[in-house]
Amino acid sequence: MQDPTKYLAKMLKTLRKEHGLSLDGAATKTGISKAMLGQIERGESSPTTATLWKIATGFNTSISSLTEPIPEGAEETLIRDADEVRQLARGDGTMVAPLFPYEQRFGFEYMELTFLAGFERLSEAHEPGVVEYITVISGSMEVFVDDIWHDLQPGKSIRFRGDKPHGYRNKTDEDTVTLSVIHYPRRP
Ligand code: MN
Repeated sequence: MQDPTKYLAKMLKTLRKEHGLSLDGAATKTGISKAMLGQIERGESSPTTATLWKIATGFNTSISSLTEPIPEGAEETLIRDADEVRQLARGDGTMVAPLFPYEQRFGFEYMELTFLAGFERLSEAHEPGVVEYITVISGSMEVFVDDIWHDLQPGKSIRFRGDKPHGYRNKTDEDTVTLSVIHYPRRP
């Protein structure tokens, strides 16, 4: 498997060049400091999921397209093993297995998302039109939307607008495994 930090470094530089931006310009667009963006582009820093989201939102792209190439053989039937692609998100309290990374033609990414015991994060709104789906497979968790924490047990699913503030927490002492889809709006 390739090093996600290196892939992110390359992708960030590519996106920034495509948008014709300096590091200063990219800092304004994403809300991430110029120093941090420089570190990421040099492969010296592997950012938290919150930082990845800011970059994805700033550049109107998906989160998995920053960290994962489209799997080989994507034109054909695709079989993916979460055990082979699962990664601990740095300093973050989640594990992410990008089962089906974002592809523009489909408009979504599909992943196994594990919220480690004690995890809690409030997320800023993502780009307008983003919708999130979560199904709990094992353990339990709560999702904060519309000013309420919604309790989710195995087999329960929630769909909510990712373009409004929202949050995730696992107050139990066991890890919670979920399947999650993030759907992005169509872009011209
Ligand atoms: Mn979110």
